[in-house]
Amino acid sequence: MKKIAKKMKKLAIKGPSLTVKWALASSFFIFVVFTIFAVFTYKTTSNLMIGRERNNLAKTMDQLVDRLSVSESELTYLSAIHQLTEVNTYMPNNSASQNNPENQTSPDNQTDPENQNSQDSQSSQSSSNADSNLPEYNSFVSDLSQPELSVYVYNRSGKLIFNSQGEALELAATQKKEPTIVTRQDKTGFITVVPIYSQKAKNLVGYGQAFYDLSPFFEIQERLLTTLIILEVISLLLSSVLGFFLSSYFLKPVKVLRDTMDTIRRDPQSMVKAPVLNTHDELADLSEIFNEMMERMRRYIEQQEQFVQDVSHELRTPVAIIEGHLKLLDRWGKDDPEVLEESLSASLQEISRMKMLVQEMLDLSRAEQVDIQYYDKTSEAKEVVHQIYHNFELLYPDFKFTLDDELDQEETVAIYRNHFEQMMIIILDNAVKYSTKRKEVHISMDKGTRYLELAIQDFGEGIPKDEVEKIFNRFYRVDKARSRNQGGNGLGLAIAKQLIDNYKGKIHAESVLGYGTVFRIFLPIVPKKEIDS
Ligand code: ADP
Repeated sequence: MKKIAKKMKKLAIKGPSLTVKWALASSFFIFVVFTIFAVFTYKTTSNLMIGRERNNLAKTMDQLVDRLSVSESELTYLSAIHQLTEVNTYMPNNSASQNNPENQTSPDNQTDPENQNSQDSQSSQSSSNADSNLPEYNSFVSDLSQPELSVYVYNRSGKLIFNSQGEALELAATQKKEPTIVTRQDKTGFITVVPIYSQKAKNLVGYGQAFYDLSPFFEIQERLLTTLIILEVISLLLSSVLGFFLSSYFLKPVKVLRDTMDTIRRDPQSMVKAPVLNTHDELADLSEIFNEMMERMRRYIEQQEQFVQDVSHELRTPVAIIEGHLKLLDRWGKDDPEVLEESLSASLQEISRMKMLVQEMLDLSRAEQVDIQYYDKTSEAKEVVHQIYHNFELLYPDFKFTLDDELDQEETVAIYRNHFEQMMIIILDNAVKYSTKRKEVHISMDKGTRYLELAIQDFGEGIPKDEVEKIFNRFYRVDKARSRNQGGNGLGLAIAKQLIDNYKGKIHAESVLGYGTVFRIFLPIVPKKEIDS
């Protein structure tokens, strides 16, 4: 017993419960979704920000080149400062000569009235141009004053001649170098190099180099990452807790169902039922199906138990009778031929009754399996009924049988011929058996919309009203002693009903005590179309 109890306990705990699995699965799903979202956000934001910084740097470098390329000779500290800071003289991609400091300081230009005039007009033009370029100039100057940006100008030989932030930096390359990320004195940022060619003379005048410190950007990136990780952890915790509560709530009926099953497993006699759920979902269906199934199984078990009880009860009487006769023979029968003969014939009679009982029980058990083996078998109604009618006429010549056949043509019924005959014989046998004075049996046959309607009427002893429904039960006999005398075991009608039910037909009895009984049978007709096809 202890072992069984242990085994049962072991069966109950088999790894994590469904609730835990559900909670874990939902958390994992949310974790994956959130991670994808976080990585996407992080990457996109970083790329966008870094792209913007790169563009700004490239733009600043373009302006630097624009300003410095007006110089025709190699850049010097003075010329670089002048070009980078002078507002009036800066006109990008325009009249390089006017922007050239050498040109402006030339005394020839100052004394030449034509030049003077032209310079006046150009000066006013350049001032108006300066006005229109003011925002650009301002943006350039403010770009230069950014703490993150360090701009360097070198002469042709790579010597540093201008430095916007004070900290010196060597020229990184003599070729054009697109903004690339490097680490310099524990600072990471973009570095870019542009060789500067004179706009006019097209010769190399120097190099521009810029370093853009990306530390603030990395700081923002780090903060974004920390925020996303914190959010991910919070969402993971929340989803686990929520998943656990939700799954506990939704799986509650499953647990109750499992407990119900477990109770039934431990105690098969238990009458517990699964709860009726009003959720109208699959679990409600499951609960309902389980209850129905259990109900059917209980009924089936009850029937089986009843059947075994009834059979043993039915067998007890003939066995007791035979035993009595054998004892009688043992005591006196050996010498008394009269007792011997009487006892032997009585015993033989009981044995033949037992044989019949066994045969009927076998028939009943076969009748229960009809729908599996004979579901597509059919028989011809007229043929079977007429044949049985003639057989009974021959078998019981003292009885008056009448057949009222209303069928215009042969009808096919969905029942295996042997079973049709067996069922008819059981009812006609009863009609003969339970007829008293009036030895008459009427058979009628007609066609309804879907069923063949058969009626078998006798004018015998009849059945009390409250017992009419019970005569189809196994081993039920209205008058046990009388029925037994007539050789009945109370199984005939149970077999007939089982057969008819299996073929989706119907049977019922109407009876008036002392006047007789009518059995009405309905058998499904096979439509002509189906037979042809
Ligand atoms: P049995 O083998 O005892 O006849 P059945 O199952 O055929 O068993 O019938 C059950 C009981 O129904 C019978 O014992 C009898 O009391 C009653 N019965 C059946 N048919 C008739 C009938 N035609 N007239 C009166 N009683 C009947």
